[in-house]
Amino acid sequence: AANGARKNEFRQLRLDGVSRQFGGANALDRLSLTIERGEFIALLGPSGCGKSTALNCMAGLLPLTSGSIWLDQQRIDPLPPEKRGFGMVFQNYALFPHLSVSRNVGFGLKMRGVPAAEIDRRVAAALDTVQLQAHAGKLPGQLSGGQQQRVAIARAIVIEPPLILMDEPLSNLDAKLRIEMRSEIRRIHRAQGCSTVYVTHDQDEALAMADRVVVMKLGVVQQIGTPQDVFARPAKLDIARFMGYRNVLPVNVMQSDGAGVTVEGAGSLRLPGTAMQALPLGSAVAAIRPDEIVIGEGPNAFAGTVETAEYGGREWLLQVRTVFDELLYVRSAAVVTPGDRVMLSAPPERVLVYAKED
Ligand code: ATP
Repeated sequence: AANGARKNEFRQLRLDGVSRQFGGANALDRLSLTIERGEFIALLGPSGCGKSTALNCMAGLLPLTSGSIWLDQQRIDPLPPEKRGFGMVFQNYALFPHLSVSRNVGFGLKMRGVPAAEIDRRVAAALDTVQLQAHAGKLPGQLSGGQQQRVAIARAIVIEPPLILMDEPLSNLDAKLRIEMRSEIRRIHRAQGCSTVYVTHDQDEALAMADRVVVMKLGVVQQIGTPQDVFARPAKLDIARFMGYRNVLPVNVMQSDGAGVTVEGAGSLRLPGTAMQALPLGSAVAAIRPDEIVIGEGPNAFAGTVETAEYGGREWLLQVRTVFDELLYVRSAAVVTPGDRVMLSAPPERVLVYAKED
């Protein structure tokens, strides 16, 4: 716009109890979320947890079964997609194969009746942002996967949307390109000053890109927090498992003092840990990441025998049979071979204790 302000600029996008059913089943169950301007939000969860449904409800591609969506004081959920003016980037970026990169990017503006000179200017600026100026005249088929993905992003940002919705945009790319594109998308997000909602089932991607992560399961939000929150302090055992807490052990809570607890595992091994929810004395589970287990003598250390050692480049992933006959996953920077005896311990703040599963 002439004064440099974005069309539809907003302070907050607010979802209030948004639900969507298919055939009586809840694909999305009462999602409430406030997205601030400039924020990068990741919707994270396994396949079928309702991430795409949530995104399509925001986009206006799916009507809500109940709830409402607000841009500041304006209720927008009755509006069709084109009236919301959000940018969208999907997994299948669906470029027109017979149109040049510039024409693909300018298509939406042309449809909106924007004058040709302005289209040229804005397309050039968008291609500049995604660093594809040199490819403006090429056809999509002449570009690499990552370049095509950037054309799709340019097509979304050229309309200067206040919010960009992305549904697994990197899933068609190879591992190396995916990692490069992560920082590329973050850079574009910052350059645009817009808000972004990004759907992924890849926790590394969510942690690397987002300001806040919304963890979902079966249509229900499990936790909303910074990447550091959801990684270091998963609110539920399920989330911990999803975040790579591969060691999940049955324990007994022997003593509880606020967050500090003492648990007893197999063979009367006692370990100090951290309660992640209200815990009665008795049965519970402890979750520990392989890389949080320390190899070597120390307080509360216990012995084990290495059963398998898998080389991972920078470190080894071990399976260690403890003297209490439990099998633990442990990461080791030092060379260890099967049959070696090791001493293990875990810092109390990294032994997360959850109530027993139903
Ligand atoms: P994925 O990562 O596999 O895309 P998702 O987390 O995005 O999964 P959704 O696509 O939102 O999940 O689907 C959530 C639930 O709603 C699933 O159980 C799915 O089968 C169901 N669902 C989604 N779309 C429809 C539809 N059009 N008709 C019927 N059921 C649907």
